[in-house]
Amino acid sequence: MTNQPIFSTLLLYTENCLFKGGHQVPARNRGSGGPIPLHIFVRFYMFDRILVLSPHPDDGELGCGGTLVKYIEEGKEVYYIGVTPCKNTIPEGFPEDTLIRECYEATKILGIPRSNVKVCEFENKRFPRQRYEIFNMLEDARVDIAPDMVFIPSLQDVHQDHHTVAVEAIRAFRRKNTIVAYEEPWNNITITTTAFSPIERRHLDTKLKALDCYASQSFQKRGYFDAGYIESLAKTRGVQINCKYAEAFEIVRWIM
Ligand SMILES: [Zn+2]
Repeated sequence: MTNQPIFSTLLLYTENCLFKGGHQVPARNRGSGGPIPLHIFVRFYMFDRILVLSPHPDDGELGCGGTLVKYIEEGKEVYYIGVTPCKNTIPEGFPEDTLIRECYEATKILGIPRSNVKVCEFENKRFPRQRYEIFNMLEDARVDIAPDMVFIPSLQDVHQDHHTVAVEAIRAFRRKNTIVAYEEPWNNITITTTAFSPIERRHLDTKLKALDCYASQSFQKRGYFDAGYIESLAKTRGVQINCKYAEAFEIVRWIM
């Protein structure tokens, strides 16, 4: 994406909205149809290739699932990389590839095309000693996907796998990409909520439905998988910006 055409495109869009019936996006992304409001158009043009980095399958959905659904509705291209299939911690009785299958099901519900989803084979719990290889994988993703915005875990995340991905992602994407950290309060010592993404009930419902795909995780009764908790966090973040539901983020680097 280049910055140069934004203003002329914005003016063209405004003219289209006022005089020609609105900006056109694919029908599958338009919901009830009709012209797209100007504020959505501005978001649409700021970032249109989004990469979410999920140390373990489920982190991306937990941290920014509602926002990803919203972005896909708006016609953005979303890519998802899970860094490990968590073979070291698959619960007893579940096949080794369980999290890979669950991840494909969950991301499909979010609306991410299968071709945009990848689960790498790094060893979970031991990311710090694989950081060089993880950095190389992220460098490849930067070149192959060329995202203009990257969602990562927070630098304040105390889980060693999450923290490694955050640090290495900042190294890999710092020169050209806007980087935004999602929150996972159960792992964050603190987080500065410097960005908010308002979402609608349908986005939250789709996020919850996607998380339901992770049967191998939710059956362990982890509190952060509880639908009531996820909804209450979305309500809390919504109250902060005077809307019903939202997801909150920490800006790491913003390229305007
Ligand atoms: Zn995780």
